[in-house]
Order: sequence, then structure tokens, then C-alpha cells
Amino acid sequence: AKSAGRNCYQFFTQKIADAMKEKLDIQDQIAKALENQEFYLMFMPIYSSQTLAIESLEVLLRSTNPLLNKVGPEKFIPVAESTGLIKKIDLWVVEQALKKLHEFNQTINYQNTFSINMSSVELHNKEFPLKVGELIQKYHINPKQLDLEVTETSLTTYDKNSIQVLNELKALGLSLSLDDFGTGYTAFNQLIHYPVDHLKIDRSFVAALNTEDEKNHSMLEIIISMSSIYGLKTVAEGVETQQQLDYLIELGCDYLQGYYLSKPLIEADLLQLLASQSKQ
Ligand code: C2E
Ligand code: CA
Ligand code: CA
Ligand code: CA
Repeated sequence: AKSAGRNCYQFFTQKIADAMKEKLDIQDQIAKALENQEFYLMFMPIYSSQTLAIESLEVLLRSTNPLLNKVGPEKFIPVAESTGLIKKIDLWVVEQALKKLHEFNQTINYQNTFSINMSSVELHNKEFPLKVGELIQKYHINPKQLDLEVTETSLTTYDKNSIQVLNELKALGLSLSLDDFGTGYTAFNQLIHYPVDHLKIDRSFVAALNTEDEKNHSMLEIIISMSSIYGLKTVAEGVETQQQLDYLIELGCDYLQGYYLSKPLIEADLLQLLASQSKQ
């Protein structure tokens, strides 16, 4: 039994050592990727539930770096957040996205929005709203075409500084979305402190629709009806089936996003999709 205990201990220390090694590797590759332009953007359409027309494009970060490509943003973004590299990434994404938005305005008369993810780290970065403002000017962007997404969990403790950063961003004329809503513990009456326009309902709530459990259905119903009372638009993430789509439309969810409607697209595929939609 003693040796089994020791094996178990060795097993866990090995696991921890592997995880630390992987994190350091990811950190190195992020720095390298920033230097060598190994990042690019993909675009995921967000649809109006009324017309099923594309209303916005969520910008998603990708990398050609083999390790970063393998682990994906779900893993490398948190590593970047724990090392400070995230500030460079966020600004890189905002700049590339605004450059692209300007280009789409000119070339295909794109008039909808871009939704860009910002890390919760920026909520403590007073420079961030200034930098975003400069980039909006540099690329001649109408701020009405810009939406920034920030995760709900980053706002669960009331914090004056974060609210100030959000207010300064709002003052630029853009809109704000609370991402992954429902995974934190924000009470609806807390929401009035945050200058947000949209709630993006986490895809776990949409996935839960597949089960028979009525509780899951009523959660979505409550979020959507409370949102309209508070004057917030709702976006459902992770729509993967026709049944989910039908139900969300019936509930009056404003916007829909998910693999059933479209996966994240590279620019060439996006342009093809936008061209085919404008012909309809
Ligand atoms: P998120 O902001 O919640 O983005 C949605 C993620 O869910 C995307 O994964 C998207 O591909 C995936 N998704 C959307 N619809 C469906 C669906 O119907 N089914 C399934 N199974 N998945 C769906 P992705 O691109 O891997 O991004 C993961 C996370 O990484 C994002 O979560 C976001 O938190 C972060 N991230 C991505 N790009 C950026 C970025 O440019 N900057 C920052 N700061 N974070 C980013
Ligand atoms: Ca998002
Ligand atoms: Ca989300
Ligand atoms: Ca997420």
C-alpha cells in the first residue's frame, strides 16, 4: 500500500510538472507568434432571430503556430492572461479587426458590426479605452459598428475601476456585450451598474435544451424575459440544432450564433457567404 501511495504521489507531481512545462511552452510560442505574425482572425456570424440575416461578425483569434493551433484559444488565451502577453494580443486583435472592418466597408459595403473579445485583464487597464479610441480614429471606424465582448465572470465582484473602464469604452460610442452570461453569479439587479447592451447567454444553457428537464427550459426563459425588462438584447450562443433554433426564436431571443447557422469562417469563406446573402 505504501508503494502505491508513492506511485500516486509521483503520478501527480509528474502531472503538475507536465502542466507547468506546457504552460511555459505556450508562453514562449505566444511571444514568438506575436513577433513572427503567426496570428490571424476568423469570423463567426451572429444572426438576427427575426430575419436570420447576419447582424454581426464575432472576431475569433487563430494561430498558424503548431502548438498554439493545437491547443486553441480556449487554452492559450488564459496563459496569455496570466503573463501579461494578453495586452499585446488584445491590441493586435483590435487593430487587425478595425483594419479589416474598414476594408469591408470600402470593398463590399459591409454595414454591420464586428464583435471583438476583450480580456478581463483590460478592465484594470486604464490605457485600453484610449488605445481603442486611437484605433477607431486611425481606421475611420464608425463606433456604432463596433461591439466589445467581456466575460460575465470578470464582473461578478462590483469594482469601480472596471466600471470606469467600461464607461470610457461606451463613451467612444461602441456597444458592450456581457459574454458567457449565466456562468457567473451576476444578479439581474446588479446589471444596472454595468453599461452593457447585450447579454450573450452561455452555450451551456442552449445545450441543456436537449435534455427533458423542464428546469433548463425555464432558465433560458427567465434570462430572456428579464433581459427585455432591463432593456438588454439577448444573444444565444452554441445553437447546434433546428430544435434549439426554433425554441430560441419562440422565446424571443434577439440574436443567434452557433454551428447550426455557421461555423467560424476564414475570410475567403466569409466573403463568399456575405456575397450569397446580399443576392437574396
Ligand atoms: P467565446 O468568446 O465564448 O467564443 C465562442 C467560442 O465558442 C468559440 O471558440 C466558438 O468557435 C465556439 N462556438 C461557437 N458556437 C458554437 C457551437 O455551436 N458549438 C460549439 N461546440 N462551439 C461553438 P474559440 O474560437 O475556440 O474561442 C474560445 C474562447 O477563446 C472564446 O470564447 C474567447 O473567450 C477566447 N478568444 C477567442 N478569440 C479571442 C480574442 O481575439 N481575444 C480574446 N481576448 N479572447 C479570445
Ligand atoms: Ca465571445
Ligand atoms: Ca461566449
Ligand atoms: Ca467562452
